[in-house]
Amino acid sequence: MYENVVKKIREADKIAALTGAGMSVESGIAPFRGEDGLWNEFDPQEYASLSAFRKDPDKSWELFRLQIEECSRAEPHEGHHSLVELEEHGLNSVITQNVDDLHQKAGSKKVLELHGNLSELICSSCRERVKTKDHLKYILDGDIPHCKCGSIFRPDVVLFGESLPLGVLRKSQHEAERTDLLISIGTSAVVQPAASIPTLAKKTGSVLIEINPKRTVLTPKVDHFLKGKAGEKLSGLMERL
Ligand code: NAD
Ligand code: ZN
Repeated sequence: MYENVVKKIREADKIAALTGAGMSVESGIAPFRGEDGLWNEFDPQEYASLSAFRKDPDKSWELFRLQIEECSRAEPHEGHHSLVELEEHGLNSVITQNVDDLHQKAGSKKVLELHGNLSELICSSCRERVKTKDHLKYILDGDIPHCKCGSIFRPDVVLFGESLPLGVLRKSQHEAERTDLLISIGTSAVVQPAASIPTLAKKTGSVLIEINPKRTVLTPKVDHFLKGKAGEKLSGLMERL
């Protein structure tokens, strides 16, 4: 199985990766869906939507605090490092739905963040931005950071009911259109518009590879499905390249 994928990677000039929450599971960060998913505990509409944040920011901050705590402790795993190595074999960009900064921590050069990043906070009124780490102790103590203007800060991530950053989405679509091979890793491929990236790549002639321990809605459309964990499968590929 690896052999066919390795051959395709060798043949490709341009490679792109699309990553989702499953990419970070081996770094100890819970995904949203599935058995250990955060959504079993936190209803997205009640905690992570724009309307929920406006109605009851303290409640949304319960989820944000948990996510910020998890991400502040997390380190990239062998899969993140493998994607950095893959740059030497033609990987141009990592398009990610993750907000945990792990691709950047590992050293990936071009990361397109479709859903923002928890490492910055943005004021809900004046749009002032600050580093989350400068407020980390305060947040982990159970407090909610406020801006100089008096309004409440929120993580600079895309909430349900908000649109994605248009520039990043356009760049990601452009990458999908020009890539020869796209590897979709650890995404359930149901959250739009991110889920349309691999289909767009396929439509424009790209080879599709998927890495996931479970089949997804994308699996029937891919050329090669590597069933397993992101870290294991990506490092397995790198060993053979
Ligand atoms: P998802 O939660 O819908 O799906 C996770 C997928 O990962 C599933 O298909 C699951 O089978 C797979 N998976 C589980 N363990 C894996 C492993 N070890 N290796 C590879 N795959 C594994 O996630 P999604 O598709 O990314 O979409 C949900 C949304 O979740 C996104 O909007 C994203 O912003 C947000 N999110 C991000 C983080 C993060 O930044 N780490 C964490 C939770 C949720
Ligand atoms: Zn402000």
